[in-house]
Amino acid sequence: MKWSIGIDIGSVSTKGVLYNGQVWHSEVISTGWSPSQAGKEVLERLLLTHGLTRDQIQIVVGTGYGRIQEGMFDKTFSEITCHARGSSYLLPEACGFIDIGGQDSKVVALAKTGKVRDFVLNDKCAAGTGRFLQVTAQTMGLEVSQLSDLAREANSVAINSMCAVFAESEVIGLLAQGISKSCIIAGLLQSIAKRIGVMAGKLNFQGCIIFCGGVAQNQVLKGLLSKEIGCKLFVPPKPQSIGALGAAILGYDLIKEEE
Ligand code: ADP
Repeated sequence: MKWSIGIDIGSVSTKGVLYNGQVWHSEVISTGWSPSQAGKEVLERLLLTHGLTRDQIQIVVGTGYGRIQEGMFDKTFSEITCHARGSSYLLPEACGFIDIGGQDSKVVALAKTGKVRDFVLNDKCAAGTGRFLQVTAQTMGLEVSQLSDLAREANSVAINSMCAVFAESEVIGLLAQGISKSCIIAGLLQSIAKRIGVMAGKLNFQGCIIFCGGVAQNQVLKGLLSKEIGCKLFVPPKPQSIGALGAAILGYDLIKEEE
């Protein structure tokens, strides 16, 4: 049996996927301070969990901001290429994907062939990224994983600051006025949905869009985004790992080409 591994070293988490042409298994760990250490650790975990050795893996493909690690990968691809491959593998009819990660957000339109048609990126500021949610959740003494449940059914309060730093002060001000955390969180999620909606508006989507990246675990945001864009969103299983999955599949494609 042939195996490939894809590793996506992100700013917040490092994802690894083991793939054999039919099934995939994933591992997610925190990147911490050392991207190379995180890359090695996720690789070791995948091997250990599945009783494999490095020699049994035909190719290890890297992606993500930490992919430039000397000697670690046989091949590297950009995050957009990997997410596109992972998305079209999981949902061939997807007309695009939205990836909201720890430090950037990407809205990408796919052609019918699964290739990238066009894209809009935000990698310059924390607004509309996981970082924005992390900072504001922390201000309220909460974990990002609690936000969705708290925002459900809540009436959103308007959040005017787009910048994560100013939004933090605005949240502190709203809490001081006695506004509930639930209403504030609903407002924060609405502001992310608006921001991503503007990016998506440039790409003229018609059809189903994959929503991936760590932030896609927030179901309330999924609903808000879907309304904002006017398209159905599909959150795949393990949405954080779609880039690593795409890297593993691209690696597997290369093994098959060589044969
Ligand atoms: P990166 O690739 O940049 O490391 P990820 O795609 O792993 O980013 O996403 C990280 C972000 O996901 C975090 O900044 C956090 O806001 C968000 N996140 C992590 N876990 C959850 C969760 N359970 N629910 C909602 N958001 C989450």
